[in-house]
Amino acid sequence: MNEQARSDPAHSDPGAAASYDLGSPARQLIDGVWCDAYAGGHGDVVDPATEDIVARVPFGGATDVNRAIAAAAHALPGWRAQTAYERGAVLQRAAGLLRERAEKLGRVTVLESGKPLGDATREWLVAADFFEWYAEEGKRAYGHTIPSRSPSRRVLVLHEPIGVVGVITAWNFPAYNPARAVAAALGAGCTVVLRPAELTPLSAMALGCALQDAGLPKGVLNVVNGAPAEMGQAMLDHPALRKISFTGSTAVGKLLMDGASRTLTRLSLELGGNAPVLILPDVDIAAVAKAAVAARFRNAGQVCVSPQRFFVARGQLARFEEAVIEGVRKLKVGSGFDPEVRVGPLASGRHRERVEGLVQQATRSGASVRTGGRRPAESARGFFLEPTVLGGVQEDMAVFADEVFGPVLCMTAFDQLDDAIVRANRTPYGLAAYVFTNDLAAAMYAYERLDFGMIGVNEWTPQAVEAPFAGRKGSGSGHEGGREGLFDNLETKLVSIGGLTVGAR
Ligand code: NAD
Repeated sequence: MNEQARSDPAHSDPGAAASYDLGSPARQLIDGVWCDAYAGGHGDVVDPATEDIVARVPFGGATDVNRAIAAAAHALPGWRAQTAYERGAVLQRAAGLLRERAEKLGRVTVLESGKPLGDATREWLVAADFFEWYAEEGKRAYGHTIPSRSPSRRVLVLHEPIGVVGVITAWNFPAYNPARAVAAALGAGCTVVLRPAELTPLSAMALGCALQDAGLPKGVLNVVNGAPAEMGQAMLDHPALRKISFTGSTAVGKLLMDGASRTLTRLSLELGGNAPVLILPDVDIAAVAKAAVAARFRNAGQVCVSPQRFFVARGQLARFEEAVIEGVRKLKVGSGFDPEVRVGPLASGRHRERVEGLVQQATRSGASVRTGGRRPAESARGFFLEPTVLGGVQEDMAVFADEVFGPVLCMTAFDQLDDAIVRANRTPYGLAAYVFTNDLAAAMYAYERLDFGMIGVNEWTPQAVEAPFAGRKGSGSGHEGGREGLFDNLETKLVSIGGLTVGAR
């Protein structure tokens, strides 16, 4: 598509958007109608690999959110009154459509995010898995009864849909992030106002289109696009909106929590991370290094669970660094439409400058670039940055201590496992951590002491549709995914029935 865009003489004109199949009308979806922003505003979606405008989409504000919340509130009684089996049937159909359309939708995601097409297509298949799984799990919102202290009383605990849920998502997984939150909310019987990241609204709009095609009643899922703070505040302010599922940075998560302290809107916060990796002396270091390169540079490092701080057993550090550099030099950087490419561009020019700034700051303080570190000479356009390995990094450097969210790999040595664990835990974040060893007892010793919500032991993807995505500390609270994700969209109701007949009647 990158090449097609370049050969299209109209590619830099917003009108060129018509030449792409965007998988949806590329407008807001409110109450079952594809519409423009209330005040007529527009925003451009830019292909980060070419800097071309690929679509012009509505860019609204508080009024759009309020209209969407009104539609979701109106649709709520009908949707929650359906049985979990009826709701599940719609979600199953949606899962089927997403699977059928996965490659086509993957192309939309590549256009707006730049990631490799294979990754984007797999992302849509996982999005489908979320809908399939919550279609089933919605049937398991079991309550329970509690033995009463009084013979004339019965105590029941029920779980009911929380109501209208606002979903605000980050750009790094334009399909996965919205699907994860939306599928759980719909499966629980909630209705939704989805506001995707303004850099990547097309995938969310295509998701809305697939759900509409699957027979989702109008107003049950609404998709809006526009001003971040204004839309977030409108969600917080509206009394009908009962919960916000937020995926994004810790800084914005704190802002929402601050706002929610005034409105008591429930929040689930899936925030940033700075994952440590403990590589113990007994591993096949070449194999771990090879896999580490694939994991660290997946999505150009723009992954919340991306392994960032590598703590390597001192005796293995030199071989690890050598193997990592060898692996990184083989990574092809370029358009996500090129099947050989493993690393696409960063999401925006501003984001690339931030990552470059972290690298420059580290080298000014004594770190050295072992490979990469520059904008590729052959790509005059696009927000590309070469996959970068830094040596001589100190743990207090921002490139190590802060979330990089970019294609930079740093490592340091450790002598004792206890010391590595203390250093790994020395971060405000608590999302993912990784341990590599063939010693079961050492692995258990480490995972029991690592203060993170998700631990990968000898693997790089500790997350699964059916398992809770579990941040702690500065990485957030609440869950998406798994049974926990369903219950985060339910409220508990106690029913106490008194005055019952005791004895014969
Ligand atoms: P961000 O916090 O800047 O933006 C996230 C979303 O919030 C976007 O849609 C943005 O438009 C919106 N937003 C920005 N300001 C807002 C405000 N004041 N009120 C309401 N909404 C607002 O984050 P980002 O740069 O888009 O994404 C990167 C971050 O997301 C990283 O920190 C990454 O680790 C995190 N992330 C976390 C997870 C997870 O599951 N834990 C998953 C993906 C990304």
